[in-house]
This record gives sequence, C-alpha cells and structure tokens, in this order.
Amino acid sequence: MAFRMPDHREIAQAIGDTKGLSLFLRRALTPGDDFEPIPAPHPGDWLSVHQEPGQGFQEFAGSNPRRPGGRKNRIYLAPLGEFAEDAGPRLDMLRDCAAAYFMMDVFVLPRAEVNTNRFTTRINPVTRNRQVLSLDVLVYLRQNMPKDAFCVLAVTMEDLYPEEDWNFVFGQASLKTGVGVFSFARYDPAFYGYTRGRDCERLLSMRSCKVLVHEISHMFSLAHCTFFHCLMNGSNHLAESDARPIHLCPVCLRKLQYSVGFNVVEYYQKIFHFHRTYDFDREAQWVNRRLEHIMGT
Ligand SMILES: [Zn+2]
Ligand SMILES: [Zn+2]
Repeated sequence: MAFRMPDHREIAQAIGDTKGLSLFLRRALTPGDDFEPIPAPHPGDWLSVHQEPGQGFQEFAGSNPRRPGGRKNRIYLAPLGEFAEDAGPRLDMLRDCAAAYFMMDVFVLPRAEVNTNRFTTRINPVTRNRQVLSLDVLVYLRQNMPKDAFCVLAVTMEDLYPEEDWNFVFGQASLKTGVGVFSFARYDPAFYGYTRGRDCERLLSMRSCKVLVHEISHMFSLAHCTFFHCLMNGSNHLAESDARPIHLCPVCLRKLQYSVGFNVVEYYQKIFHFHRTYDFDREAQWVNRRLEHIMGT
C-alpha cells in the first residue's frame, strides 16, 4: 500500500490532547510554521519500500515505552577503534549533542580496541576495508554495561556487517537490552574514494549527530515518524538522511518529553547552546525561532 500523507486531523490526533499541560509545553506542541510536512516518498526512499504503521503519542504512551528511571538514568557512548582527529566526529561533540537532545547525563567510556580475539572481522570484498561483526559488539556491550546505564551506544569509524552474506550495515541495536552500535564510516566521503571537501568535517559531524539522536530515540521506544519531516523519519539512503532535519516534530517531542520529563524551554535552550558551540548556525536559528514561538516573544 502506497504511503498516504497525513491530513491536519490525523496530525492533531497524533499530537493528542494537550489540555492540562503547562503553557510552554502546549505551545511547543503547536507546530506553527516551523515544521515541514513529511515529503512524498520517491522511488527508493524509505516510505516507498517500508510500510510504517505510524505511532501517535497516545499509542506510544500506552505501549509501555522504555524510560530512564530509578538507577538506570545515564546514557553511555562507547567509542570503538580509532577516531582520527581529521576523519571522524569529535567524541566531546557527540556527548554534548546527546546531553542536549535527551537532557540526561552522558558519559564517554574508555575507547575499546578492535581486538580480533573479541570481535570477528573480515575484509569486505568490494571496498577492501576491514569490517567488524556488529553482533559481537552488542554482546561485548551487554557484558560490560554499567549498572546505571539506560542505554549504551558504541560509535565507530569501522565499517560493520551483521552476518556473512550481507555487504554492510550502518548499525544494529537491541531495544530490549538497551545496547547498540553505529558506524560513521560510510558518512565520510573518503570511504567511497572521494576527496574530502571544505565542508566535509561539518557534514560528517552533522550526519553523526543525526544518527546518534535518531538511534538513541529508538532506545526510548520512539518508532519512525510519519507525521512531519522529522529526525525520526526512516531513511533508506544518505541523501534521504541528509535531507532530514535534526529536530523532533511535535509528535515525537511529546513522546520524549513524556519519558524524560524535561522542561521544554530548558531543552531548547540547551540545544541552542549546543548548536552555537559547534557552529551549526542554521540549526541554532531554527531553535531560536522555536523558543520565540514557545515563550511568546
Ligand atoms: Zn530508525
Ligand atoms: Zn516526528
């Protein structure tokens, strides 16, 4: 069945009744002009290949979503292998990104070597690059999971594969146990033999931040978004991922806010500060507009 664009009524229903919420949160859940409609899928795009049932806020809240709480209230990033100065996202940037977008404490674990006794590896016959078996990484993360971890995400510049007859995989996660591994290798133009352009570092950083926030959001049981052009849209290829904004739409924002319980003004202020710090000017401007809308200034 082809994807059908949601109408206004369906979108309002997905956001849900906001009576009883604080004024600022109600405004944050009112789209205004700041959100684009979900793009109609072209052949090869995620929604032309995958049928997404859609997940409104009420459905999400009724699905017993994974939430931080008790002693399991930290996000851990576990770097795997080398992160060269000029060829990978900065780990402190990824930490600050997750801390802002989830309003939780985020810690970077000591870097793990790609020890071939621990992780199965192979040379990909097409790219001639080394690849690490993603399942081995998930097992390792589970065995070494800190007791206070809500989730542990391994991040790596190594290419990954999920099983022998697959060419590669961008990442793999286990929602049940809260572990995942994501490779940024294929976000680097050099992986495909292209020279790194002037804006390469910024591009790689933005791609890495987007994949990080998207994948951690899945750890909170957020399904793919079918309501707006949103970070939680599914993506089938790099151009589709690049086109996605880094922000959550009102439906997805409501889910995350419900689970983490943050103050929405502080949330956007922290995200604004993050984008300013790392020179993501366009994103900072968007957040600033959103804050003005919320605070009525
Ligand atoms: Zn996804
Ligand atoms: Zn969304």
